[in-house]
Amino acid sequence: MHNFNDPQLLKNFSYINGSWHSSASDIAVNNPATGELVANVSNAGVAETELAVKAAKGAFKSWSAKSANERSVLLRKWFDLMMENQDDLGRILTLEQGKPLVEAKGEVAYGAAFLEWFSEEGKRVYGDTIPAPSGDKRIVVIKQPVGVVAAITPWNFPNAMIARKAAAALAAGCTFVVRPATQTPLSALAMAELAERAGIPAGVFNVVVGDDARGMGKVLTEHKDVAKFTFTGSTAVGKSLISQCASTVKKVSMELGGNAPFIVFDDADLDAAVSGALISKYRNAGQTCVCTNRVLVQESVLAEFTEKFVEAVKGLSLGNGLDEGVTIGPMITPQAVGDVKKLIDESISQGAQLILGSNDTDLGTSFLTPTILTGVTNDMAIANNEIFGPVSPIMSFKDESEALAIANDTEYGLAAYFYSRDIGRIWRVAEGLEFGMIGINEGIISNAAAPFGGMKQSGNGREGSKYGLDDFLEIKYLCMGGLDK
Ligand code: NAP
Repeated sequence: MHNFNDPQLLKNFSYINGSWHSSASDIAVNNPATGELVANVSNAGVAETELAVKAAKGAFKSWSAKSANERSVLLRKWFDLMMENQDDLGRILTLEQGKPLVEAKGEVAYGAAFLEWFSEEGKRVYGDTIPAPSGDKRIVVIKQPVGVVAAITPWNFPNAMIARKAAAALAAGCTFVVRPATQTPLSALAMAELAERAGIPAGVFNVVVGDDARGMGKVLTEHKDVAKFTFTGSTAVGKSLISQCASTVKKVSMELGGNAPFIVFDDADLDAAVSGALISKYRNAGQTCVCTNRVLVQESVLAEFTEKFVEAVKGLSLGNGLDEGVTIGPMITPQAVGDVKKLIDESISQGAQLILGSNDTDLGTSFLTPTILTGVTNDMAIANNEIFGPVSPIMSFKDESEALAIANDTEYGLAAYFYSRDIGRIWRVAEGLEFGMIGINEGIISNAAAPFGGMKQSGNGREGSKYGLDDFLEIKYLCMGGLDK
């Protein structure tokens, strides 16, 4: 029915301890573009989540005892299978999430790249020797996997947000339980099928799908056998999960919300800035944590940039992500469209001007036409909230210090972007922005080799890169004494 090369990749059950578990009821997974049913998936709950933690605990001893090289071979095989099945995985992703097929396949490649990266990086978990303060002692530092890792992930990147965590955790020697977002479980289950085919042993990678977010989340954050909890999602939910983790003093890493400024200085290459803003704002229909949230343009180039940007945004093609030529898909639900429209209306009532979009469309209630607002100020709700939709609020600034002050005036600190060709300004602004990731003359910044993560209330910890293993490793200090003759 869905034209898969390999229909076995569409799974309907949670994957626990190397087998597929059915439950008494089902969750319907619907295509956001059409509302049509894609699949029914068994609705697991607290009991299955506990079972998955038990399985991960049981598998930890033998998985952590494997050599880094043995784990590397299996992770590499998993990467190969993800890439061999990129078309099907992309189609599954578009069906459950809505993003255009080209973007979905790009996400599959992006997610798989973390498996490849950490299959190699896992071999480089070096320890240390430290000169001791007295001659009869030696100080040695070793690194060991933390144990069972539990993860909760969002719907906006149903493949990559899992791969980014699991790749590092498994490479470090940890075992893994993930609860994917209720709206998008199919990509996670397809990954489990490929993990099994790659030879990842039972219990090492477990996926529990269920709509009891609170109950299952409580197990994953409070279970004594979970050593580390890693979350990607909103700041509000992240805060409550951090406090749940306190009861067992778990290691915690958080990839939370953002409010990215995109700053265009008067010396910028305006065409490059327009292209960067277009991709960083409108990919995934504006539903990414690193999406541009506020476009700040220096007064002297405001009119020229705005004119070029409007033309570029008019060129986007809205539609069903499976259709040829579509560059922007639906939002995840009609309710998400409603929430964004409320922000648009509120800014207009506060003085912003709607210069493009926000029109009704006969595509359906999950679609919002790409929108641009001008005359926005940083005190408006649209500038203070993570928009998570295809809307660009444009505001202006006079000089560099005002740009920095506006950009940093947010509780978030995930990604920021700016365009300038002045080398002095580039250093000053890059160092002055209070964000974990900065795109300089660049609108797309994520890749497996770079540390992904935020400052302030956008979270803690880093995913990807040589730093990405740290969150899954314990540092153990061995003091060897009595060495005197
Ligand atoms: P969300 O509402 O926080 O949900 C994220 C995940 O948490 C989902 O699996 C959700 O389950 C689950 N959840 C919700 N409430 C819970 C609770 N009380 N206990 C346990 N689990 C709970 O966020 P979202 O709307 O799905 O995702 C968008 C957010 O993620 C944005 O803020 C975005 O910026 C952020 N994000 C951050 C990054 C990053 O790397 N920094 C990357 C992508 C997205 P259900 O699906 O069942 O609701």
